[in-house]
Amino acid sequence: MKYDYDVIIIGSGPAGFSCAMQSTKFNKKALIIEASDKSIGGSWIHKGTVPSKALRAAAKLIQSFHSQFGDERGRKPYERFRMEDIMEYKKPILESKNKKVKDDIIKNEVETVRGWGLIKDSNTVEVVDHLHQKKTFTTKNILISTGSSPSQPKIFDIDHTKVLDYSSILELTHIPRRLAIIGGGIITIEFATIFSALGTRVTILNEQSEILPFLDEEIKTELLKAIKKKNIQIFNNTEIQKISSNDLRTCEEVLFKTTETDRLQVVETDHILYVGGKTPNTKSLGLEDLGVKTDPNGYITVDQYYRTSVPSIYAAGDVIGDPSLASASFLQGRLASCDMFGSSSEIMADDNLPYGIYSIPEISGIGLTEQQAIELQIDVTVGRAYYDNLTRADLNNETDGILKLVFRTDNLKLIGVHILGEHAADIIHLGQSVMAHNGTIKYFIERVLNYPTYSEAYKIAAFNGLNRVHKAGVKYQKVLEKSN
Ligand SMILES: Cc1cc2nc3c(=O)[nH]c(=O)nc-3n(C[C@H](O)[C@H](O)[C@H](O)COP(=O)(O)OP(=O)(O)OC[C@H]3O[C@@H](n4cnc5c(N)ncnc54)[C@H](O)[C@@H]3O)c2cc1C
Repeated sequence: MKYDYDVIIIGSGPAGFSCAMQSTKFNKKALIIEASDKSIGGSWIHKGTVPSKALRAAAKLIQSFHSQFGDERGRKPYERFRMEDIMEYKKPILESKNKKVKDDIIKNEVETVRGWGLIKDSNTVEVVDHLHQKKTFTTKNILISTGSSPSQPKIFDIDHTKVLDYSSILELTHIPRRLAIIGGGIITIEFATIFSALGTRVTILNEQSEILPFLDEEIKTELLKAIKKKNIQIFNNTEIQKISSNDLRTCEEVLFKTTETDRLQVVETDHILYVGGKTPNTKSLGLEDLGVKTDPNGYITVDQYYRTSVPSIYAAGDVIGDPSLASASFLQGRLASCDMFGSSSEIMADDNLPYGIYSIPEISGIGLTEQQAIELQIDVTVGRAYYDNLTRADLNNETDGILKLVFRTDNLKLIGVHILGEHAADIIHLGQSVMAHNGTIKYFIERVLNYPTYSEAYKIAAFNGLNRVHKAGVKYQKVLEKSN
């Protein structure tokens, strides 16, 4: 049968974009359907990754300037800089990213159509545009890459003026003096440290017993120290009771209890940011009628090739659930295309997924934490490097940080890297490569690494780890011989 397209992609975020790009490399005809009439690129460019990272970069610049050159009048950063200044920094970045994506789509001859995509059957998609006009297209394959939206709180409303979600906070027209964040995950810590760098007094109300429970404990301790230095207050185990406006005190009030005490406590704030998780965008796509299986939380179920339960329909990105990252979505969309067009066996997704947390300071990790390795009864040793030993960190005045290597004591094989400090999300990939090739910490000792760099931390940590193995009674030379 002849179809209009080889693949129709519903949603133009990282998963959809990369599927389209890969499909054109196979010389296939691709159509992207995008519901937004203004933008292309999804949350990646418009509501999440890039805008929040641009805000971070501006906040970091302001923080560096402010701490480096001080202020003789003792003003806070938000008294010297305004959101307009930050917008001036952000706007060209977003515009150029948007243009780049559009140019790539045009250059690669991917067709686009604006409107709501609805799957009619396993080879037919209907698009309803903004004037309610309908068009129907046939296709050999379909990729659902519709992303996710912020979850709604149960006991209060998000008005996007005083009470914000992780998208509307990026639209703020001023730097708030006070901000209360309800949440305890990655986005919470990113926004908390970004606004704190701008001088905002931040309070975190975390409904769980700890923030970022997946972090290596030592990295968490360092993060909590950095958070304390910034005067960010964290309440764990909270139960939000009510949010209301206090007109007399011209503020918002968040009433909460913690499980430790039954006493009602209050935070006065200018804005509240609610970060309560994500909901997959699977509504009104026609999935129920087609029999596309979803899990109890509504995420589409896929196999390792991103195939759904219906042949010819694939799904990738936030709509299939964790890790819900642009980084992973890019690869998933590409792998879905490879499977559609017969190349899946050549490419395997990596089990060891790195994560990057763009807080100030940055955090990144891959592989087992020290605690996880011990729980698995692996005999591990750790090696540490502190940023204040790195010349590059000294030069940049960014000396808060630690890089920690987790490796097997018997053969020095690297099984985990955990970093807190500037450029953590970049330098993690050196550790990732060594791990992907089953390498040992000897790699860092025996190779010349550029100097001065943040990567030097790997060398220092490897020496530190080897010293520890030696001190533990295993002869250095023997260990080296054994690992050869
Ligand atoms: C504040 C924030 C910061 C983040 N920071 C990072 C980061 O630093 N690093 C990282 O890797 N990830 C980050 N993420 C996560 C990242 O943005 C998402 O994981 C990624 O955008 C998901 O990509 P996607 O392709 O699944 O969907 P999306 O990017 O969400 O795109 C989905 C698109 O589908 C469209 N759509 C939905 N339904 C339909 C329909 N029926 N018809 C047509 N079109 C439709 C939507 O309009 C949207 O454009 C961040 C997210 C947020 C919110």
